[in-house]
Amino acid sequence: MPDDGSKLNNVAVLADEAARVELQVPVATLDRLLPLLASANGMVKGSIAFSRERSWVVADIQFSADLELSCQRCLGRLPLTLAGRSQVALVESQAAVDSVPPEWETTLAPDGRMRLRELMEEEVLLALPPVARHAEGQCGDEPLSATPVQAAAPTQRPFAGLGNLLKPDRPKK
Ligand SMILES: [Zn+2]
Repeated sequence: MPDDGSKLNNVAVLADEAARVELQVPVATLDRLLPLLASANGMVKGSIAFSRERSWVVADIQFSADLELSCQRCLGRLPLTLAGRSQVALVESQAAVDSVPPEWETTLAPDGRMRLRELMEEEVLLALPPVARHAEGQCGDEPLSATPVQAAAPTQRPFAGLGNLLKPDRPKK
């Protein structure tokens, strides 16, 4: 049965065992991700394979997440499936972070311990689009031929036209 990632694991032990953990984490248990979502329904699934790379504990994380966000344009629900894979070095202290090659992603595992759901959560957070929106013309129940939002009442900018009034007509290209 897949793990929900809530246990505190010793990652060094997992690395020495070359363990591979299957995870199914309800998004309702992810405190950092949850406030960014439109609903607590959804699941992050995936696996983490542990290994040692020189002295470091490395987690190879694969995930897919079914999430529900809010569209920043119409505020309607926006279902989103994210998937990704990355390798992260798990280090015990901030000082140890500096010893890891800069091209590696690092995560702190204080005293070598962490909850695996937090590793998954971090990867999902990194994969989230900076701005979530429906595709152009797909917002809400708006018919596809609806007038684009930009065509609504012009913004009031009383001085915007002044410059043009003061300039002589320029020849048109
Ligand atoms: Zn929308």
